Amino acid sequence: MHPQLPKEIDPFRFAQNGLKLTGELQVSDMERLSGALHNDDGVVNIDMHFDVDETNTPFLRGTFSASLTLICERCTQPMSLKVKTECLLALVQYERKIEGLAEQYDPWLIESNDPIKLSSVVEDELILALPLVPRHDFKCLPAEAWQSGEDEVEVEEEKPASPFAVLSALKSKD
Ligand SMILES: [Zn+2]
Repeated sequence: MHPQLPKEIDPFRFAQNGLKLTGELQVSDMERLSGALHNDDGVVNIDMHFDVDETNTPFLRGTFSASLTLICERCTQPMSLKVKTECLLALVQYERKIEGLAEQYDPWLIESNDPIKLSSVVEDELILALPLVPRHDFKCLPAEAWQSGEDEVEVEEEKPASPFAVLSALKSKD
């Protein structure tokens, strides 16, 4: 059994203390993630390590995995997708510090001293890891059914999720 995960975290303090968190969160507790899914079944396995690097930068190294249910855009039927994402986030208190970060880091801007919802950082990372165009990895429809007629069927190019979208999502945290 996993120990109980805290609902709220203080990332800077966690980093100073070199804390590790492992456990499970319910997908149903993550509203923004659930909104992108067919249903909110399942759990997210989380493995987080907060620490401070040799340049005194506090960071979070996280691995999040889940089996999520999305809608296939080809056959419009539900599909189960295993998602696993790893992140290395530098904790920054001021936007101006982002520029000086070592290359391996993505910034995690935390401007307030209020505790942060643990699930919010996890769901942000998972949302980024979702495929832009979810599709079964097998031919769920005969080729002629979706290749004929419309030439817009195979939509590969969509705007990549901007890392700044994550930042602004974090800034406007509820
Ligand atoms: Zn399909």
